[in-house]
Amino acid sequence: MRSSSTAKTSRAEFRAVRDLEAIRKFIVPLSPPVTSFEASIRSTPFRILVSVLLSARTQDPVTEKAAARLFAIADTTGKMVRLPEAEIARLIYPVGFYRTKARHILGICQALGKAEKFPDTLEGLLKLPGIGRKSANLVLSLAFGQPAIAVDTHVFRISCRLGWAKGNTPVQVEKELEALFPKNRWSEVNQALVGFGQTICRPIHPKCGICVLNRICPSAECNKNPN
Ligand code: SF4
Repeated sequence: MRSSSTAKTSRAEFRAVRDLEAIRKFIVPLSPPVTSFEASIRSTPFRILVSVLLSARTQDPVTEKAAARLFAIADTTGKMVRLPEAEIARLIYPVGFYRTKARHILGICQALGKAEKFPDTLEGLLKLPGIGRKSANLVLSLAFGQPAIAVDTHVFRISCRLGWAKGNTPVQVEKELEALFPKNRWSEVNQALVGFGQTICRPIHPKCGICVLNRICPSAECNKNPN
């Protein structure tokens, strides 16, 4: 016989998967920037890693253009380490923190040059300069097809608004989402919520009035913000 807590977990999982699916379908015609960005970087693990690094604190269209400029000159670790740091910074400008990112790109290329193989684990990726947990999870998902949930500002905010998570830190939210969703859905969470956050469930003035989830969302602000 199933325990009531198992049944409750299954109901929560069923609802979360249903709502994630609704978000995924809802944002397709809205063409959020993340869709084009992720399509543009799906390439070698190296290019995905560098693009993910560039994307931190930077809008996707800006990252996409910066990555294209950089890879037109150097698309392998061997070519990249021959570039001066100032030249990398010039090529990736105006991504956020472009000087620091240029330094990290060189550090990553030097580390990868010495590594036996490209790191394909969370622990391995976290050892690379400038790569934090969110970026590492994104690389695992995009480059290696591994189940991983990258919790960025959109994923954090929307998970809390929808009641999927209550954590105060990205790691806490990541763990809650991992417990809520079946593993084969983990990698869908970031793209769906980033696209949803870019277009509908925005940080300020979310468009609750036209949101597909406004009837069930505990944070819906339809009455206050009917646009
Ligand atoms: S109803 Fe509003 S707060 Fe809730 S998910 Fe939709 S846009 Fe976000």
